[in-house]
Amino acid sequence: MIATPLTRRRLLGAAASATLLAAAPGFAAAPLQGPARTAYRRFRLGDFEVTTLLDGAVALDGPYPIFGEDQFAEDVAALAQANLLPADRMTISFTVTLVNTGAELILFDAGNGAGRRPDAGALSGALAQAGIAPEQIDVVVITHMHPVHIGGLMENGAPAFPNARYVTGAKEFDFFSKTPPERLAALIAANVAPLAEKMTFLEPGGAVAPGVEAVAAFGHTPGQLAYHVESAGRRLMITADAANHYVVSLQRPDWHVRFDMDKEGAAATRKALFGMIAADRIPFIGYHMPNPAVGYVEPLGAGFRFAPESYQLSL
Ligand SMILES: [Zn+2]
Repeated sequence: MIATPLTRRRLLGAAASATLLAAAPGFAAAPLQGPARTAYRRFRLGDFEVTTLLDGAVALDGPYPIFGEDQFAEDVAALAQANLLPADRMTISFTVTLVNTGAELILFDAGNGAGRRPDAGALSGALAQAGIAPEQIDVVVITHMHPVHIGGLMENGAPAFPNARYVTGAKEFDFFSKTPPERLAALIAANVAPLAEKMTFLEPGGAVAPGVEAVAAFGHTPGQLAYHVESAGRRLMITADAANHYVVSLQRPDWHVRFDMDKEGAAATRKALFGMIAADRIPFIGYHMPNPAVGYVEPLGAGFRFAPESYQLSL
């Protein structure tokens, strides 16, 4: 094939033909359909299969002051802009992870729940598109008890995953069942308490299933757990909310984040957890990383550079 240089003249010619076609009788213009995202991404990990499922994505003001609330606004803005992001608006997505071990289907977190907020709560639709019925879910792991992770546990007063057992951190359950922050108390009572009898509680190092092990990720909440997944020598970390902005949280792990209950503890967790992920060069899935939320990190200054997964897990 002979490459033809794509000149400005040729581009203008193509544009002119397109205009003529659109205007010609019998050629209706296709209606704009609005922005769209992919509902799920699936890949193999050894003998396991991993699917990330989009529960939703919302636009909000930020990164500052949600991220870098202890910094000068200009410094956070400069970091965003240096990374080709706008200074004052951001998107945060919600990505639920499903691990099929061959023996069990394990869901990590349950999304916002249908109808709780616009642009989120789409987990059941994403699962359906991925070919999974809620009844098939064997285990629901609750990484921590913030609303956007537990909102989808119950639907119309009944468990959304009727055949599942539940796993969460012992420390997390203890804190949120006994002394939940006031704004979360009603949701914990409605969505966690009814499932408590089907729940088992893990310490760091405990296993959900063979190859799926809890890792301490305290700070964001008192008892948040990350999960290390390993099958046939392939490894993956599910980092939950240890880092929630792919630029600010990873490049400046020390900067305070509004939603981290213990700012210093969360920073220490970010550095330790992502330090290990960077050193071992393993992929991770972060609940609020840009959907499909799978990537790698490498050391960069005092923090890390996020490299989205492209084809590494499809080879
Ligand atoms: Zn959270």
